[in-house]
Amino acid sequence: MHLVVVGGGISGLAAAWAAQQEAQSRGVSVRITLLDAEDQVGGKAVSRNHPGGWLTESGPTGFLDNEPALDQLVALAGLKKVAANDAAAHRFLVLGGKLREIHAHPAKFATGGILSPLGLLRMAREIFVPGKQGDADESVWEFGRRRLGSQAADRMLAPMVQGVFAGDSKLLSLPAAFPRMAEMEAKYGSLFKALIAVKRAGGKGGPSGPSGTLTSFEGGLQALPLALATKALFTVRTGTRVESVLRGSDGQWALQLEGESEPMVADSVVIATEGPTMARMLRADSPLLASELESIDHPGVTVLSLGFPPEATPHFPNGFGCLIPRSEKPRALGFLWDSSIFPGRAPEGRTLVRALYGGAVDPSISDLSSESLEQLALHEIRDLFGCSAAPEFTFETRWEKAIPQYNLGHLDRVARIEASLRTFSEGQGPLLLAGNSMYGVAFGKAAARGWSVGQEAVQGLCNTAAHPA
Ligand SMILES: Cc1cc2nc3c(=O)[nH]c(=O)nc-3n(C[C@H](O)[C@H](O)[C@H](O)COP(=O)(O)OP(=O)(O)OC[C@H]3O[C@@H](n4cnc5c(N)ncnc54)[C@H](O)[C@@H]3O)c2cc1C
Repeated sequence: MHLVVVGGGISGLAAAWAAQQEAQSRGVSVRITLLDAEDQVGGKAVSRNHPGGWLTESGPTGFLDNEPALDQLVALAGLKKVAANDAAAHRFLVLGGKLREIHAHPAKFATGGILSPLGLLRMAREIFVPGKQGDADESVWEFGRRRLGSQAADRMLAPMVQGVFAGDSKLLSLPAAFPRMAEMEAKYGSLFKALIAVKRAGGKGGPSGPSGTLTSFEGGLQALPLALATKALFTVRTGTRVESVLRGSDGQWALQLEGESEPMVADSVVIATEGPTMARMLRADSPLLASELESIDHPGVTVLSLGFPPEATPHFPNGFGCLIPRSEKPRALGFLWDSSIFPGRAPEGRTLVRALYGGAVDPSISDLSSESLEQLALHEIRDLFGCSAAPEFTFETRWEKAIPQYNLGHLDRVARIEASLRTFSEGQGPLLLAGNSMYGVAFGKAAARGWSVGQEAVQGLCNTAAHPA
């Protein structure tokens, strides 16, 4: 039996490893091949060492260590986790051109200047706001306005959505993007009541999700996918682009690879790429499925890492970074102070800052040349932090399809995709979709989905072998 996994990001690697472990525990022989279009595995997790001692992340900074699938993968990779510095707990918001720390403690939050006295009063009334009626979808912003007031929706939820999705809070679906908030309201009738109940029960985590420690590795986050590929007990082929996945004969799948005349034949396929890329692969045989997958928006994000000399260091607070609401002047979605978050990101005494631009709220940023973008970032850094030092080092990454947007209607779309997939793969070996386009955008969620899909593929193969059509 041959299982092919398309995509060597964390989702695909999790799927391949889980399939290998599942096959081993069942005592069945499954040949597994993982294919990735790029020269290296990792997908969005790209960590790069640069001359002079700078270590940049082009994608995820780290992950919250609350996902069992990731723990298993870290153990299989034989890596040692590195927890973020304590400073990373300090997160900021830009309001009125100034940095304001987002405190979790109610008294500190109330005096922190994020909400006006009226905004605070409105937020405090949350406990009396009745629960949502009906099951129509609702945007994150509308949910925030209804429960916490429009000031909290603008100043807190909208920037949070920018930080996680590079998204627009008025477009994103609350139950799809932040299911825990929707569940809290449904169960307790109020977010504050839910938080009190969770605390009383000894639980952890806030409305946006369970808490955890921000984690990475000594060589950056890509160390995990790289180690998983190096230690793989299956075949990893990089530089191999899959053009299409077609229904083959005898229940098998035929994968057309770029530059190869003969298709690769598989009994089961896991596709772990972005939604629109899946769509391209499946369009020929299932246009319906392809059109649904294609309609999951993946706006671009540009990431600019800037390394500053020692004299710049006092200008940047020792913290995680800041988010910038759209009502503020800067175009940046936010700045991350990478050298404060994890050790080893900048040479001794220097500061590595990452600026993020674009996303669903500013797609036209991609029109700017690299020079213009760097000038813009330096101008915004001077205005916000008072730092006019010239950078010693810059590194830019443009992600054309960065983070999927779980916009209004997302859960219905996922249900339609699942139904189309069942119809399309009827009578064939398992065809399964992983990746972060549908079931959770974060690195940990992508790993968890990949892991469960990898197990499912082997279970499906065993069922097919036991009951051939
Ligand atoms: C700028 C940015 C910052 C982020 N920050 C965080 C963060 O701090 N914390 C967090 O939890 N998450 C963060 N994320 C999200 C995180 O990066 C993703 O959850 C995760 O990396 C998704 O992994 P994946 O394997 O599903 O997809 P990807 O990493 O996109 O991997 C897909 C793989 O498929 C391959 N592929 C594509 N097409 C083909 C083809 N035709 N044939 C073969 N292979 C193909 C690609 O080369 C790629 O390797 C961030 C994302 C971005 C863009």
